[in-house]
Amino acid sequence: MTARTVLDGIRQQLAAATPGPWETMKSGLLGTRVVSVDGEWGGLVPDEFVTLVTPALRKPTDASFIAAAPGNIERLTAALEAVLALHTPVKKWEPYAEAGYSFNTREEALRAAGEEDLGRIAIEEGPQYFEVCKECGRVESDQLSEIGEEWGYRESLWPCPTVAAVEAALTKDGQ
Ligand SMILES: [Zn+2]
Repeated sequence: MTARTVLDGIRQQLAAATPGPWETMKSGLLGTRVVSVDGEWGGLVPDEFVTLVTPALRKPTDASFIAAAPGNIERLTAALEAVLALHTPVKKWEPYAEAGYSFNTREEALRAAGEEDLGRIAIEEGPQYFEVCKECGRVESDQLSEIGEEWGYRESLWPCPTVAAVEAALTKDGQ
């Protein structure tokens, strides 16, 4: 089984279920609802002993979807966490803004600034940093070194395209 087939399976379950958003509600009735869960007392507590998913849900595929949700959410969350753990920001320090070259630490940038004849504004501003993606920077650096060029950072500026795509999907309105 590949990641693609897992995602396709989840997509199919989602498509077969009643479209969201769903809500939960308290009810004293046990009927033909798709989901009922015992109240916190674990028994029959008048008026509050079941929590129902929105009453419009009556399809068996809704029940399958709900039953699969914990496992699916665990898998999807773990997958995205793994991606985000790989793509993390790191700081690159320039002796002054737009210097065109950078260092891994502020101290190195400060030392380099001391060796340059900088104008008053650059000295007052001090070293500036920008952020790049550690993983995308590694890939970009490897590719460029193969053709004998130095890493220019510009293709791996933070947020990188991978993180931007994850952020856009997760923070999209109405989901
Ligand atoms: Zn990245």
